[in-house]
Amino acid sequence: MAHKLVDSYREKGARKKLVELLRDRGIADEKVLKAIGKVPRHYFFDETFWTQAYKDIAFPIGDGQTISQPYTVAYQTELLHIKLGDKVLEIGTGSGYQTCILLELGAKVYTIERQENLYKRTSQVLPHIGYHAEFFFGDGSKGIAEFAPYDKIIVTAGAPLVPEIMLKQLKIGGILVIPVGDENSQKMITVLRVSEKDYERISLDTFRFVPLVGEKAW
Ligand code: SAM
Repeated sequence: MAHKLVDSYREKGARKKLVELLRDRGIADEKVLKAIGKVPRHYFFDETFWTQAYKDIAFPIGDGQTISQPYTVAYQTELLHIKLGDKVLEIGTGSGYQTCILLELGAKVYTIERQENLYKRTSQVLPHIGYHAEFFFGDGSKGIAEFAPYDKIIVTAGAPLVPEIMLKQLKIGGILVIPVGDENSQKMITVLRVSEKDYERISLDTFRFVPLVGEKAW
């Protein structure tokens, strides 16, 4: 974790280059690119590793987990089509970087993490750097029924299937974005809740996430 909150010309410049790289890789939503250009990703790294913060790579954050690759964060966020005031459930808080991107887009974010150390650290760090979400500790493979329904649900870990229980927590017109597959590779799946009973499912590109571990997952 960063020891000091300094966002110098060097970091700002590196962030700008990252935005251009993501644009070149096919991220087209200007709002998403603007959010990537705003969130100081180096704050999620120990100062020793700041030079790594604006490379398009995932990076270890402790407890066997990673901060997601910026391209993956941008890709999933783009699929959510976030609108100002959207109520979003994020499953797998991790470092909280994805959470900050959602907050930058004007979402109200409920985020859940199953690893206690990460939950404790991220729920302290985010308010410290100016980002305010609702943090939960526990198994998010069941969603969070208490605060449902949500406009959008994003899962940031790889699931063996789409948990039925999550679909039920979507508003009509709501979107779920979830990587589904085995432990080596997953397809990015989007599910649109069209009506009370009907859902439209689209399978997109292949990714490799850490596993979603829980009652409705691995
Ligand atoms: N998007 C995050 C970021 O930007 O740092 C990275 C998330 S990391 C790839 C996936 C996270 O999902 C891990 O922190 C892992 O502990 C968490 N996770 C796995 N299974 C979970 C579950 N059932 N409920 C909540 N979190 C879970």
